[in-house]
This record gives sequence, structure tokens and C-alpha cells, in this order.
Amino acid sequence: MATALYTHPDCLGHLTPEGHSERADRLRAIWKALEAPEFDALDRREAPMAERSELLRAHPEAHVAAVEAAIPSEGSVALDADTHVMAGSLTAALRGVGAVVTALDAVMAREVGNAFCAIRPPGHHAEKTAPMGFCLFGNVSIAAKRALDHHGLERVAIVDFDVHHGNGTQDLLWDEARVLFCSTHQMPLYPGSGEARETGAHGNILNAPLPPGADGAAFRRVMEAQVLPALEEFRPELVLISAGFDAHKDDPLAQLELGIEDFVWVTEALCDLADRHAGGRLVSTLEGGYDLEALAASTAAHVKVLMERSG
Ligand SMILES: [Zn+2]
Repeated sequence: MATALYTHPDCLGHLTPEGHSERADRLRAIWKALEAPEFDALDRREAPMAERSELLRAHPEAHVAAVEAAIPSEGSVALDADTHVMAGSLTAALRGVGAVVTALDAVMAREVGNAFCAIRPPGHHAEKTAPMGFCLFGNVSIAAKRALDHHGLERVAIVDFDVHHGNGTQDLLWDEARVLFCSTHQMPLYPGSGEARETGAHGNILNAPLPPGADGAAFRRVMEAQVLPALEEFRPELVLISAGFDAHKDDPLAQLELGIEDFVWVTEALCDLADRHAGGRLVSTLEGGYDLEALAASTAAHVKVLMERSG
């Protein structure tokens, strides 16, 4: 089976202010990298816009209505210090959610072996009732909820190796015993949450913070000592990845020292996990990554592993 690539030109229409890290060029850099001949076998699909009901799987009506109401017809509106919306932002965000839930459906239907969603805005900082940290809706959490409530799965794992803590995913799934959420991230760093003692209402959250300067060996040690054993014990029926590439050593927003080989390593480990417990079912979605060259190369390496492992 092939690896699906879900994306959409509308994701460029979320225009952030001049100089903002989370910019449309991120997606253009990824698309360019994925044009190389080695990616010819990707099953390229347009991301549909998510139904409003999908957003409501993870967010209350009031949050969805507040984001909709905040969208200006012209100019840009700041929802917090980092998070801006303009006319194209809602459509972009709905394409993002639509990508992840449709990728989930395709993987569940065995149309494709696994999938990567090249989308923006990202999602893992969006809390139940608060857009935050460049994010409007909890893309990966919505997909997890759909996997449980629509597809009837009982155990879904989310692994977030973005350099920032997935506070939004943690907030949305704090009391969801059917999800194991594992996050590696730099601490201290934005948004400030993600201490090891934050374990969820049912012990369903595993935070593995790393100090500034931690390198790939330190990342692999914490994955091997804590994250992978917990995932193994959980036996997920589906693996979702919040794939942020801002732990790369060249990223300007953080101070971890990962290299492309570390993203390859963790992707292989998560594909192994999916093979053992989930029939290979895995959906990965883009979160952060702000050095265009490192982002494009890391994403390409990640997708290459997914293609090699899509069965
Ligand atoms: Zn990040």
C-alpha cells in the first residue's frame, strides 16, 4: 500500500504578519522537497474541509463559534501574542482538520498504509476553549476522538516530538482514558507546561521534558527508557504523530540539538510500534519547524520512512 500525502493550497491562505515564524513558506518548502523523484509513489490527495461536527468532537461549541467570529474580512486580528487570523485562516484550519480526519479514514479503510498531512496552521497548542501558539483547532486530538467515537477503536496513541509541549493535546485529552498522549519537548520553553508530574486524569499522559542543549542521544535515551515502553504496554490500535521538526539543531525557536537522523530513528520506531499493535495504521501531521531548510529536509526524511514502511 502507498503512503498518502494530504495537503491543500488553501493552507497557504492563512497569512501571518511579516516576520512571523509560522509562515506559508514553510509549506512551500515542504512541497518542493516532496517533488523529488523519490516521492513519486506518494498517493497525493487534496485535503477536504472538515465538517463543523468534527471540530465539536474535541472543542465546545463556544470555541468554534469564537474562532469563526474572530475572522476579519480584511486585515489581521491577534487572538494572542503569537496567534493571528485573517480572511483565509478559517478555511486553512478546516483544510488542516479535514486532512487529518480524512487521512484517518483512509488508513482505517486500508486504502493506504499510512499518511502524512502537510498542513498549517498547526494544532497541538490549541486548548479546548483557547486558540494558542499559532494553533486554532486541535487537529490531532480531533482525529483521535474520531478514531474512538466513529471508528470504534479502544486505544489510540499520540506521539508528539515537536520541541514545544503539546499543551493543547494534553488539555483536550486530559480525561480521555482511551488515548495515551506522549510528548517529548524542551523545558523550560513555551508554553511552560509539560512537566513529568502532569500525567492526565487516568495516567494517560506521559511528558518527557528535555533540557536546553539536549542532543539526539539524549532524545533517544528518553524515548527508549520511557516513551517507547509505555507505548508498547498500551498496545495502541492506531498511532498518531504530532510531527514538529523544531527540535532540529538549526531551528531558531528552541535549543534542542536533534538531527535528521534522529527524526528518521523515531519514525522507524513508531512504524515498528504500529506494525506490532496497529496493523501498521499510522497518521502523521505537521506541527512546528521554522528553519525552512531543516524543516523541508526533516519532513522529507520522515515521509521517506513512512513510504518505506507503508506495507
Ligand atoms: Zn513547536
